[in-house]
Amino acid sequence: MSTSTSYAVADLREHHYSMIVNGNRVDAATGATFTRTAPAHGVCVGRYPQAGQQDVDAAVAAARAALPSWRHTSGSERATLLAAVADHIRDHAEELSLIECAEAGKPIRQARDEVASAAGLWDYAATLARHQYGDAHNSLGADTLALVVHEPVGVVGIITPWNFPLLIVSQKLPFALASGNTAVIKPSEFTPGTTLRLAELALAAGIPAGVLNVVTGAGETGSAITEHAGIDALSFTGSTRVGRLLAGAAGGDLKHVELELGGKNAQIVMADADVEAAADAAVFGGFYNVGQCCNSGSRLLVQRDIAEAFHEAVLTAAATVVVGDPLQVSTDVGAIVNQTQFEVIADYVQQGQQAGARLLLGGTPEPGPYFPPTIFADVSESMSIAQEEIFGPVLSVMAFDAIDDAVRIANGTRYGLSAGIWTANLDAGLTAARDLRAGTVWVNRWMDGYPELPFGGYAASGMGRELGRSAAAAFTELKTIQLQVGPRTSRWLDPNRAK
Ligand code: ADP
Repeated sequence: MSTSTSYAVADLREHHYSMIVNGNRVDAATGATFTRTAPAHGVCVGRYPQAGQQDVDAAVAAARAALPSWRHTSGSERATLLAAVADHIRDHAEELSLIECAEAGKPIRQARDEVASAAGLWDYAATLARHQYGDAHNSLGADTLALVVHEPVGVVGIITPWNFPLLIVSQKLPFALASGNTAVIKPSEFTPGTTLRLAELALAAGIPAGVLNVVTGAGETGSAITEHAGIDALSFTGSTRVGRLLAGAAGGDLKHVELELGGKNAQIVMADADVEAAADAAVFGGFYNVGQCCNSGSRLLVQRDIAEAFHEAVLTAAATVVVGDPLQVSTDVGAIVNQTQFEVIADYVQQGQQAGARLLLGGTPEPGPYFPPTIFADVSESMSIAQEEIFGPVLSVMAFDAIDDAVRIANGTRYGLSAGIWTANLDAGLTAARDLRAGTVWVNRWMDGYPELPFGGYAASGMGRELGRSAAAAFTELKTIQLQVGPRTSRWLDPNRAK
């Protein structure tokens, strides 16, 4: 298949998947299964085992058993294996892209890009496997030498969402493996296919049995991982609501925890901005992946002097967005992931209208899986569409007078994942970049990501960071080792003391 190929509904079929535990393809102990219907096409595209406690126990036991040997493989060996997984992903890119397109309802063109990016993450993690450094302390005194070394934290539980299934598991798993951990993974119940195939590809690439295990199911399966005594660390991407539950459970057990949660990310457009570029980014930020991204630019803060002209530019750009069948390469924006999410979005749109925001575009969905790109102007800070993560194609536009106001408004939600500013004034850009409370700030660009750059958020957007050069070290404990050099001269008990 060429990367310009579209598909037809007849190309979709029901795949029967197995979980991967201890290197084996297994069904649930009870034999229970669940299915996924492609949101855009209404056909069943997958049947998966419904894991219960017994299956999670088996996966954790396999990960624990594999740990002693995997943690002592050399960095170069792990690097070779992770890079081999990247190659396997690339070799199966089209198959993975179609699974993701069907299960998530995302455009095939976008799915192909994401699969390529996922392979790149495994490649990057491979480089980190060979760069696990510690510290040596040689100035603590004549008789003392000390080492500080990283050790794997142990078995990592990885729980992922439906919006970028292969990409998000690849933001976590290869980094955990790079530093010698083993893993139990639970993908979203809506999009488990590519994670299960990834595990099979990893085994084929030579990752030893038990090093990574995948169980499938919904929140109860996730909770069985979260609460399992055999899990040492949790890495989660998903809603702030579930993130809080995980943090609570991890707090109770004192497990390590890394959370990548929601966002209500603001793009600030100053009057001196490159309007065309900013309008393009506003549309991309609002409607990419139907706005179902933690990083969506769901708030647009426009300097009042150019507000009406900028609305026009955004509407012109939005008019070119192709919404429709994800199987077609011409499609930019696909289906909403499920009916529940569709109703959540429709409800927020209604709230925006009732609160007095001015609808510039969309807002009224036709029956079916597609929600039209929707833009509200005259949004005020207290409205729910200005404060809450909608996870849909809804852009809330607000006007401001001075940059200080814009930064204050941008910082005025409970989230802090990302933010951006469009301006020709570098000083203004850098000042805002420093003052915006967000894990990532873009200046005159939006939503680009690189494996080399840390990703994560402040406040309700999460805890910890993924990616970047510390991403493998994030899955480690530090150990201090002290060595005596020569005979020990100082003793607690003085043999000559008076009796
Ligand atoms: P999203 O809707 O973006 O997928 P969720 O937070 O609902 O976000 O789900 C993210 C992941 O967390 C999914 O794999 C889901 O099955 C899982 N999950 C849901 N509830 C729980 C829970 N109580 N404990 C652990 N995992 C859960």
